[in-house]
Formats: sequence, structure tokens, C-alpha cells
Amino acid sequence: MDRLQEQVTEVTGIGASRARILYRLGISTVEDLLTHFPRDYEDYRAVTHVRDIVPDEELVLKVRVLSAPRNYRKGKYTITQVRIGDETGALTAVWFNQPYMAKALAKDDLCLFRGKVQRKYNQVQMTAPAYTKLDEDIEAVSGIRPVYKLTSGISAKVLSGMIHQALEQYDDELHEYLPLYIRRATELTDENYAMHHIHFPESFEEKEWSRTRLAFDEFFVQQAALKRIRRTMEQERVGARFSDLDIQPFLDALPFTLTEDQAQVWSDIAHDLAAPYPMNRLVQGDVGSGKTAVAMACLYAAYRNGMQGAMMAPTEVLARQHYAEAQKRLEPLGLRVGYLAGSLKSAERKKIYQAIEEGTVDVVIGTHALIQEGVSFKRLGLVVTDEQHRFGVRQRVALTEKAEAPNVLVMTATPIPRTLGMILYGDMNISVIHTMPPGRKPVKTYTVDSSYDERLYAFIRREVAAGHQVYIICPAVEENEEAEHPLDLTSAVEYQAYLQSEVFPDLSVGLLHGQMKAKDKDQVMERFASGEVQVLVATTVVEVGVNVPNATLMIIENAERFGLAQLHQLRGRVGRGQAESYCVLKTDSDKPDTRKRLKVLTDSNDGFYISEEDLRLRGAGDLFGQRQHGLPDFKIANLYEDMEILRTAQNACTLLFEKDPELSGDDCYFLREKIDRFLARGQVLGSL
Ligand code: ADP
Ligand code: MG
Repeated sequence: MDRLQEQVTEVTGIGASRARILYRLGISTVEDLLTHFPRDYEDYRAVTHVRDIVPDEELVLKVRVLSAPRNYRKGKYTITQVRIGDETGALTAVWFNQPYMAKALAKDDLCLFRGKVQRKYNQVQMTAPAYTKLDEDIEAVSGIRPVYKLTSGISAKVLSGMIHQALEQYDDELHEYLPLYIRRATELTDENYAMHHIHFPESFEEKEWSRTRLAFDEFFVQQAALKRIRRTMEQERVGARFSDLDIQPFLDALPFTLTEDQAQVWSDIAHDLAAPYPMNRLVQGDVGSGKTAVAMACLYAAYRNGMQGAMMAPTEVLARQHYAEAQKRLEPLGLRVGYLAGSLKSAERKKIYQAIEEGTVDVVIGTHALIQEGVSFKRLGLVVTDEQHRFGVRQRVALTEKAEAPNVLVMTATPIPRTLGMILYGDMNISVIHTMPPGRKPVKTYTVDSSYDERLYAFIRREVAAGHQVYIICPAVEENEEAEHPLDLTSAVEYQAYLQSEVFPDLSVGLLHGQMKAKDKDQVMERFASGEVQVLVATTVVEVGVNVPNATLMIIENAERFGLAQLHQLRGRVGRGQAESYCVLKTDSDKPDTRKRLKVLTDSNDGFYISEEDLRLRGAGDLFGQRQHGLPDFKIANLYEDMEILRTAQNACTLLFEKDPELSGDDCYFLREKIDRFLARGQVLGSL
């Protein structure tokens, strides 16, 4: 085992108590410590003398505190002032509403102050500078300083000291792991250099070279791990190979013709199914682009080849809907279609278990229940998962383990930016449905605040009078669900009660949320679909896949609480029929950021563009809202900014597997170790 996996207590100067503090930062091994990368840097190379101050420029002063700091009040502010100076002059440092600053500094302290100096009221003053107290020893002062994420009980100085010590002590372990030809092809700085200079660069160039190298490392190892898994799957497992790929009878029975894109995706799939190894394909298509029809075609193909097909949806509402669709499309062609979800009574469940096992159903549609113990297929040849990002990887893997090596089709309506696609699905083939079925109109989208409520109610009435239905989406079920902001959330339960009794006593206002019983959910959805319920107050349960073409208006409460990609998904619930459709984003937030984000949505109906923007504005972690996003957590690579590096890593990866497909060469020894460790950490969250 390599020594970087040793506990931090092996580092000189780190004892049990410091180790406990480090643990709070997620650091337990030496490697954790060394990869606790700076989140920023402060440039202390150019220390300015007070005499040479240029106003309004960011600068660093090395000064002494000349007087004891003092606090005084001015209106609603507490102002802290202190005189500072060096041998060339003096000035005042000022903080607002940070009274503790008075205690932080004492007369005669030697400090670095960093900030902008302004001339105000005939005085030279530095406003709210960052400061670092210095030891009288000057050596530690110069240069560029790393800024780390800290926790209480540990100072920046102590932490960087520990890292410094660890770098010294484990220097031999920080060796190059890339084969020489990869080094040559990528022209990256070497590993040891990067590990040292990311922490203690002497210039920003050095830091940038190091950062590039380390970001490359993260991408490269992740991509190589995915590739390795994929190779193993292709080589060692003989997939369910389909020989009969004639789906004409299915197509003939469809009430529409496949769009060009749908037909292309089917042809990609047919190609995979005919191959001697299992299919592993992701189909991406914006909401309403017609992925379900493609999935049905695949299930039909499985049937023609004497195999069972399973389709797994993330919610029971959605599973029900797919089930209804499968009954409509597939049963007339002779397929036996079954349904399996958690809500089934145990007698029903037993029956379907048995049918699955004996092979008396050809297609099973369901939820997580499909992957429970006790479900065993007679001859599972195809697994379709819909809206996969809502499933944990573990769950998907569990379903594929129900058979030797079934063909896997993953469908997602969350348009994933290209970068993330590579990260998440680097091991999959990807097909995209770009165009919508004919006749689809873009959803007109507006942003309003609560002062529009009356007008919105009138709008709702108008749509209902025209025979249409309306969704109202709320972020949380009960007021206290999200403890952080309990009061400003409109709760679905309460809002529905209010609307029904106070605003629309003459209409039927329904309620749908995740904590309802499956049976009740179904019932509400059915009544909504049939038009009996005209206004449906719902949480994001309706986000995925639900199809009620007659719904033409969606109002989203507290729109600022959702991710853009999620809002786009929600919006996809309207605009599915012939009539003009609308989406109203309601928010009382006047933060410029919120405005900017929501504007992306009012400006565009293009899911891919929206998710790119979402990624740019919020960062990858938030892309899919609060739920598990399935992205590996990179320590230094940035999924938006480092696309170029990702591309380099991918090319390098391709080169690697061309040269040494088994990674069996001596020059891959350390790389193999790295990949194995990466896999052991369960970090490959794409699709196994
Ligand atoms: P997705 O699952 O991609 O969100 P669906 O498969 O639910 O989309 O399709 C949305 C609607 O479009 C459905 O009502 C479906 O019947 C219809 N549809 C699908 N493909 C076509 C097509 N080629 N032509 C016309 N309508 C289509
Ligand atoms: Mg769908």
C-alpha cells in the first residue's frame, strides 16, 4: 500500500487532537491532507510602503498597529478604527459592524493588511482590510500564500505548516504515475512539482501549471476508470444478443410516424442489440421529445427475441403512466405486460413475482420494487431505466444484476451539458433526440412577483373556462419541511386548501405530493388527466414524465428555489398539446442572481442551453436540485471552467487504451493503483 494512505498522525507535529480537528475538514489520511488544496491565494509578494500608496488599488501593507483599536457607534453602525503605519507613514484602518476586530488586534502587532486604500474626508483609510498577524520572523511572510478552508481550532498558518511538513515527509511518494508517452502528449508539469506548487507557488504561473496538472489527474483517473469498467463488461460478459430487429408491426400500430431523430436513435439501438456484447446506451431528449415511444420499441424487440424486458421509473406516478402506455402499445401486439411497485398488496405482488419468474409476463414496468430481493426474471434481456439521475447508481446496477448481462437503455430528459455527459456517462454510448414531434409550440414563460396573484387567478379562470387544466407547483409539502426557510415557502398542502376554499370554491382544486399514498396519487392524477380536477397544486412529484396534454398553464411558486434544469423539466409538463401554453415563474426575490437565472428560462426553451447556463451560474452540484446528482466530487477540477482540460484528459485516455488496453505495462503500475483506489472509493458514479 502506498504510504499516502497512512493516517495524518504519521506526519510530524500532528497528534491526536490535531487529527481530530483535521477530521472535521474531511481529512484523515496523508493524501487527504495533501489534496486539501487551497481555495484561493493571497499575493504578498509586493508589499507597498505607506508613502507609495496608490488609492483604489488592491495592495498589501506591512505595518505595525500604532494605537489600540477602538469601537464607536455611528447611527446603526459600529465602526472599528485603528492607526497603522510603517517607517514611511501612517493611515487608518476601518471596519464596519465587526466590533470583534477591536479585540483581534493589539498595539504593536506587526501585520500584513490587504485591501484598497481610499481618500475619504481628507483622510487616507483602508476599508475592511484582510489582515495577517506576523511573527517578527520575516521569512514566513513573503510570496504567495495559500488560503485554505479552515475549521475552528486551526489557523491558516498551522494548516499550511502541516501541509508543508507532509510534503517534505512524503516527497518520495509524490511520484509520476503517468506513462511517459502520456506525459509527452499532454505536456503537463510533473506530479511532484504540481503537488508542491499548488500549495506553495512562487508565482501565479506556477500555481496555474500545477492546477492544470491536478485537474487533469482527476479527470484522467475518472475517465480511465470508466473505460476500464466498460472494457471489462464488453469482454467478459456475453450479452443477450438480439437477432430479430424487425419492429415494423410495432411501428404500424403507432398512431404517429417516428421523427427522424427517433428513427435514428432506434437505429443506434438496433446496432447495439445486434452486437455480441450488451448494449449500454443513454438516450437524451428534452421533455416531450418522444423517448417513451423509443423505449416501447425496444421492449417490443426484446419480446421478438424471446426475452423479457423491464422498465424502471423513479416514481410510482410515472411508472403507472408507462404501464398504461405499454398496455396500449404492446398488448395489442401480443405482449403480456405486468406492473410492479411498492404499493401492490402482497397477494398481487406474489402473483407478479411468479409471472416474472415463470416468464408469463414479457414486459414489467415498475419502480424500485423491481430490484428488490425476491424478484427474479426468467430471461431478462433488456433493462430500460427512465430519468436515471434520480436513481442511485447502486439501484441501476442492481437491476442489471438480475440477468447475466442485459442490454441497458437509460433515458434522461435532463439535458446534460456535454462536459457532464462525458463525466457521468463516459462509459456509455449516447444518442440524442434533438427535435420535438411535429406541432409542438414553445411554452411562453414569464417571471412575476406576488403582486400579480389576482391577475394570475384571473388567468387560471380563463384557462379553465377554455377547458384546460392548470398546474401550480410549490417547493415543499409542509411548512416545516425545509427547516432553513420555514416561513417563506408556500406549502402545497396549505396553498391547495386556501385556493379551494377562498379563491376557487367553484372549481376542483387537487393536491399531489410525494408523501401521499400511491393509490391516492394515482387517483388525483387520473382525475386531473380526465379534467375532473382543473387545478392541481403539486410538488415536484410531477416533474418527471407526467403527461397531461390538456394542461396549458403552470405556475411555479418560489421559483428561485429550483434549479434551472429542474424548472425546465417542470415546464415540460405543459405545452404537450395543440393549444398555446404558459409557464409563470413566481418569485419575490430581487436578488440579481435569481433574476439572471430565471431570465435564462424566459428567454429559451432549449433544454441543453438551459442546463449549460445552469451549470455556469450555479455550479455542477446544484444542477439537479437537491437530490443526488451522481457526479464525482472533484477536489480541484471545475466542471464548467475546465472543459479544455477534460478534453485533454479524454484524448490522453484514448491514447492510453490504444497503447495498452489492459493497462498491463510496467509504466501503468501506479496508474492502475490509482484507478483501483478510485473505484474502491465508489467514485465512479456514471453508469456501471
Ligand atoms: P418524453 O418521454 O421524451 O418526455 P413522450 O415519449 O412522453 O416524451 O412523448 C410526448 C408526447 O409526444 C406523447 O404524447 C407522445 O405520444 C407524443 N409523440 C411521441 N413521438 C411522436 C411522434 N413521432 N409524432 C407525434 N407525436 C409523438
Ligand atoms: Mg418521458
